[in-house]
Parts: sequence; structure tokens; C-alpha cells
Amino acid sequence: MSTSLWIKKPLSIFNANQQDAGNGIVIKNGVIIELVASNHEPTQPIDAIFDASQHVLLPGLINTHHHLYQTLTRAFPDSLNKRLFPWLQALYPVWAKLQPDMLHAATELGLSELLLSGCTTVADHHYLFPQALTEAIDIQVSAAKLIGNRVMLTRGSMSLGQDDGGLPPQSTVQSDAEILDDCQRVITQFHQQGEGAMVQLALAPCSPFSVTTDLMKETAKLARANGVRLHTHLAETEDENNFCLSTFGLRPVDYLESVGWLSSDVWLAHGIHFNDQEIKRLGDAKVGVAHCPSSNMILASGICRTKELEAAGVHVGLAVDGSASNDGSNMIQEVRQALMINRLRYQADQVTHLDALFWATKGSAQVLGRDDIGELAVGKQADIALFNLDELRFSGSHDPLAALILCGAHKADYVMVAGHWKVKLGQLIDSDIDEIQARHREAASNLIL
Ligand SMILES: [Zn+2]
Repeated sequence: MSTSLWIKKPLSIFNANQQDAGNGIVIKNGVIIELVASNHEPTQPIDAIFDASQHVLLPGLINTHHHLYQTLTRAFPDSLNKRLFPWLQALYPVWAKLQPDMLHAATELGLSELLLSGCTTVADHHYLFPQALTEAIDIQVSAAKLIGNRVMLTRGSMSLGQDDGGLPPQSTVQSDAEILDDCQRVITQFHQQGEGAMVQLALAPCSPFSVTTDLMKETAKLARANGVRLHTHLAETEDENNFCLSTFGLRPVDYLESVGWLSSDVWLAHGIHFNDQEIKRLGDAKVGVAHCPSSNMILASGICRTKELEAAGVHVGLAVDGSASNDGSNMIQEVRQALMINRLRYQADQVTHLDALFWATKGSAQVLGRDDIGELAVGKQADIALFNLDELRFSGSHDPLAALILCGAHKADYVMVAGHWKVKLGQLIDSDIDEIQARHREAASNLIL
């Protein structure tokens, strides 16, 4: 917008920094141009006002790890109550049948669900490229443009099928050459650089147990030649540690280092089972970790050592993870889950709702290598989420910001991305949610036929 908009006097604000924005923020041309301190008025001319006196104002939430296609297999009977490896083995044959229209429907629905929960930026890890779906990233780009979140689409890969001792069925894996060619193609075609980017690409071999060592090394070279980031799952379970030891003779972090991945352009999903010495090495390298509380609880994977990782220098962000292991894609609920799971590891005064909000905003932005989003400050992108507390669950609460997390907020009232409203009064304004849901339900039924 070329007019200036004052988000005036919010009920409460979390801006992910120490600056005073008690009386709100001013937005113009898609960026924040002023923080209005408590008891102050804007110094800039104001064209329009949003009265935020009934709203808690947050930076748009940032999800650092997801598998949007998995929204099609939520609460899937054969995968219920299983550990990670058998859970994967139950789902792989179903996922192998994924078709282009199904992925489009899943991406639209997952992004909508996230947007409605206050999430303005989504990193998705798509690693399924069966014969019918070689243009998966193209499909996701088109769906993301329809819904309107910023996206970091990671071109995943699996090259180690069951025939070669890997977990995935052979029909879901590609050769190293096919994968690398397509990685280069999608980066060239879709990756935007610089401030305000709406679509970014990263390269993301699925995990150490589904790609070859060569592919890990070649992917890193290709990413660095193109200036894009690297992503993978790591140290999610003890089974994975044992797999790495028996296959490579190395623990996951040693393996990561051996393939040139112990670096600040890398972020890892989960990052649970590290010892003290490994945490120090990850911190020294400034690696990022996408903390996935719900997924880790559902699969009983363990509890991420967030505080030790942060103290060592690791950037920690938050993620809902795939909707087959969550099974929701609700980012504000995930903030609450993060607080709860961390309270099982740390004392109540060591981890707070503000820590959890920081992970979901500035921490996540750092994990994705972005300094233009994740906080409310002058010059940052106008990505914001506004929540009202007009529900039974909040009645009787006194600290609005704490209430948002402790009482269990689950939907944003207003959401803006790059200065444009995408959600008003809890509804998507650019898309018909009923149509999205109908397409998605049909796709989910067709997938399991
Ligand atoms: Zn994952």
C-alpha cells in the first residue's frame, strides 16, 4: 500500500526486540516505517488507522519445517501409535501415489490453515518426486501464490531406496543426476533473493537414511554455488543415531561434518539427540534447528535441548512439522506446545511464553537466514498477526500476551503479509476456504483408494 497505516495502541505487543512500540506501528509500502512508543503519537503523516485496542499484536509467525502434502494423511489408521521408522514404512506406499492435483490441494489447505493461525512465512520440505510428480515444486509455487504466505520451498530428495538398504520404496526415489538437475532448474526458475522475497528455494535431502553420501556432498556444492540454504532432518530419534553408526560408522553430527554440512547455511529439523560436545560444534558452526514440539511428542522422539543449543550459538526456530506427525498445522498452538514440552526439560523460570514466541518469530527468521522478517522494527517487512481475546478460553485473563499462549489461542483475527491483509475477521480474504477444503477432502480420499 502506498498509504500509511497506523496499527494503533494494541492491547499488548510482542515485537521480538527490546524497542518500545507500546502505541503500535506504522506501515507504508509493505514495510514498517515507525514504532510508536507508549504515550507517543506517530511522527509520520497517517492516512488510515487500525484500532488495535482489542488485539494482541505479533510479528507474523514463521514455520521452519513442514511437509504440506502430509495434510492428506492425517490420523491415518495404519500409521497410528507407531515409532518413526515403522510410521514412515506405513505411510511411504500411500505417499508414493501422490498426484499433482493432490499436492496442489494439500499445499493450498496447509498454507491456509497456517495463515489463519497467524503464520506468514512457511518453510516446506517436499521430498516426494514419484514419476507422476516430477514438477512438485512448480505446483507448490503456484499454490503458494494463490494463498499468499511467503514460502521457503525446499527441494527435497530421496535416492536410497529399499533396493539399496534405504527406507523408502524404490518408486519414490530418483537418481542423483535427476535430483541435481531439477534442483538447479527450480532454483533458477523460482528463487528470489533479497529483502521482501516471497518465494525462496533451499535444497533438502530428506535425511541421512534416504540419500547417498555423494548426494549430500553434491547438494551442498550446488546450494553454495547458487547462494541458497541447505536443510535436512537430523537426530530425530535414537534409531537414527544407530542407523548412522551402523551405516557410516559415524554419529549424525560427525556424518554431517564429513559431507560438508556443518555450516551456517544449514538448518536441521528436530535436532534432539545431540551430546554436549556435538551441541558445541553445532553452535560454533551457527547451524539452525527447527524445533518441532508436537511431532516430537506424537512420535515420542524426545525433547530438543533448546536452551543448551541457544547458549552454544545455534539459532532455534519453531515448526509444526508434517501433518502426518502433528497432525495439525497451527502455528500459534505450536507456540503453546513449545512452552509445554520445554517445561518438561527446564524449570518454569528458565523457559517462558516469551521464549516460545521468540522461537516462532525472530528465532525462526534466523533459522531461515532472513533478517527482513520475524520482528516488528523499522525497515522490516509488514508481516503481522493480530489476535483478539474475545473467546471463553481467555475470559478472566489479566496479562493479554501471556493469555494468548497459556489459554490456548488457535486463530488469528487479522493477518497481513508484505503490507496486504490476507485474513480479516478470522477469514481468508483472497480464497474460498470451503472450496479449498472440498478439493482437499476429495484428494485425501482418492489418495488412499
Ligand atoms: Zn519432517
